[in-house]
Amino acid sequence: MRRACPICIRVAPPALRGFTLVSQLPLTLSCPGHRCRLEPAFGAPGAYFAWEKSGTVSAAVPSSVVPMDRLTHAALRTGVVTLPRRAVHAGVWFRLLRTLIDEISIPPSKLTRRAQRAVVRIWDAAGHRPRAGVSVAWRTYESLPWPRQQAALEAAAAALHLIETREITTEGSLASLLTIEPHKPVPDGRKPETVRAAELVHALEDALAAARADPLEAHRLLALLAPNPGSKRFGSVREDLIMLGIPVHNLPPDPEDSDDRRP
Ligand SMILES: [Zn+2]
Repeated sequence: MRRACPICIRVAPPALRGFTLVSQLPLTLSCPGHRCRLEPAFGAPGAYFAWEKSGTVSAAVPSSVVPMDRLTHAALRTGVVTLPRRAVHAGVWFRLLRTLIDEISIPPSKLTRRAQRAVVRIWDAAGHRPRAGVSVAWRTYESLPWPRQQAALEAAAAALHLIETREITTEGSLASLLTIEPHKPVPDGRKPETVRAAELVHALEDALAAARADPLEAHRLLALLAPNPGSKRFGSVREDLIMLGIPVHNLPPDPEDSDDRRP
């Protein structure tokens, strides 16, 4: 397989025209730099170059192909692919992509009704007949002529888009990687004791606000903090609550305070 990007070839000096590794693998459809379709060509690096069809110009790939090819390029370039759920090793991505191509090529008679509907929808979204028009029971992807491989890749790209947008559901151990993880509340990074202290402060502020507004709440708060009227602690806590803005008339009198003693 020899393919090249028309824009890359146009801007490269003749001596540097060649074929990138990714353009020779039947797993991508587009140039990673220009996002246009890789077109069939002949040549030898630095010696000669010719398009298979004269007058070849750049053409766009379907929009769903661009993100799929971006992942394959990342796999080849860095060994890591960032999927919606998490980053995975390149090997996981290639296994997932190859499995997807196989699954959308399964004869309808081998599928459940639900799976049939999903597969028909995928090929329809890609603009191709189901299984790229293959009518025999089974043919491996690698044995298909390139136009049908190309259609299968476009269908795989459409499937990835439909899975990510949850328009079709998937099964299997790798399928969950293609969807965004459902929201789960996570700790905000604070230590548990810091969280508890903050909760305690909030609870105390609520209790003080209630005591400022309601004598019954003020009595309850003082009884909670200092249960023995007449004790030294009772008088001390009562003074603290007054300092914190609780009106004196909301609190019970201090039996030990002569000013509060009633005649
Ligand atoms: Zn290019």
